[in-house]
Amino acid sequence: MIGDGAAIADFVDRITELSGQSALRDRQVLLDRLRQDRPDAADIDAADLLYYAELVRKEQLAVDAQQVRRYFPVDRVRQGLLDVTGRLFGLEWAAVPDAPVWHEEVAAYDVALEGERIGRIYLDLHPREGKYKHAAQFDLVRGVAGTQLAEGALACNVGRGLLEHDEVVTLFHEFGHLVHHVLAGRQEWLRFSGVATEWDFVEAPSQLLEEWAWDPAVLATFARDESGASIPAELVRRMRAADDFGKGYQARTQMFYAALSHDLHVREHPDLTARAVQLQSRYSVFPPLPDTHMHTAFGHLDGYSSGYYTYMWSLVIAKDLFSAFDPGDLFDPEVAGAYRDRVLAQGGRRDAADLVDDFLGRPYTFESYAAWLAQ
Ligand SMILES: [Zn+2]
Repeated sequence: MIGDGAAIADFVDRITELSGQSALRDRQVLLDRLRQDRPDAADIDAADLLYYAELVRKEQLAVDAQQVRRYFPVDRVRQGLLDVTGRLFGLEWAAVPDAPVWHEEVAAYDVALEGERIGRIYLDLHPREGKYKHAAQFDLVRGVAGTQLAEGALACNVGRGLLEHDEVVTLFHEFGHLVHHVLAGRQEWLRFSGVATEWDFVEAPSQLLEEWAWDPAVLATFARDESGASIPAELVRRMRAADDFGKGYQARTQMFYAALSHDLHVREHPDLTARAVQLQSRYSVFPPLPDTHMHTAFGHLDGYSSGYYTYMWSLVIAKDLFSAFDPGDLFDPEVAGAYRDRVLAQGGRRDAADLVDDFLGRPYTFESYAAWLAQ
């Protein structure tokens, strides 16, 4: 989606500039807290960063995890996930109790759009011995119009009782891939079926769907405690503030990684440690730790190569896509329907930049991402 290699370097510099204020603001909060313990501290480095970020979250942005958890019993979350996405995309989910599955805990649902069956999904949500340990969506069948219906599965490892909110966000994220796979499964050509878009766009629809797991009005539709009381909007706002803390300096650290991944791909350097130190000093707001060699443990270089920027790129696109939705009614059927038909259902038939343009009615911009950072 980004077009060419030189655009990666431009993107890194652009995000660095946009995240500057937010990064320095939150870094100062960490530094102030560090100075309560060590008044002469001149800076905060990676050795202290996580500890003080945790401390600030606990002391200044505290959200009681137990209080949050009681609103997320797993059965309600699972039904909420189906209800929210069903309502948003005009989909119906019909349980298929006798579908062949690979484990008794796996639930199968047929997916219908406007009364027409378009695919089948499988939810395998809980951990067990020998199972895949992370959270991901897997294609089982890629759909081809008139030939085969799309089938996809979620393999996650959320608890069986009360969930953490970040588990809820993960479920929405992975479900985003699943919905994309099924909705884009009615193509003439297999090559374009499902999540067949450019690598730097693949995460955007899932990052977008995470927004529904953060919206107080959406959460209130299913996040209820034993007494039936919905999660208070005020609590959701505090959860979001805690989650947002550090987003600017995290963006800058991400840009250091993205710059390193791109730079090592295009140039040879006689001293890689010296180059990593140089790039960290330029992009991160935290100084390099002496005598460390970060690049030797940077696993993404193997696999992502120059493409580490894709994480942040797709977030920028996700924020731009989200700007088309009405914050007062995230279910507005006109917007959601346009997004479904013009972006998701297209699969890989067109360049992602064109899909985004077609939905937004303009080329993508960085504005929404910048506004989010500034909050
Ligand atoms: Zn993902």
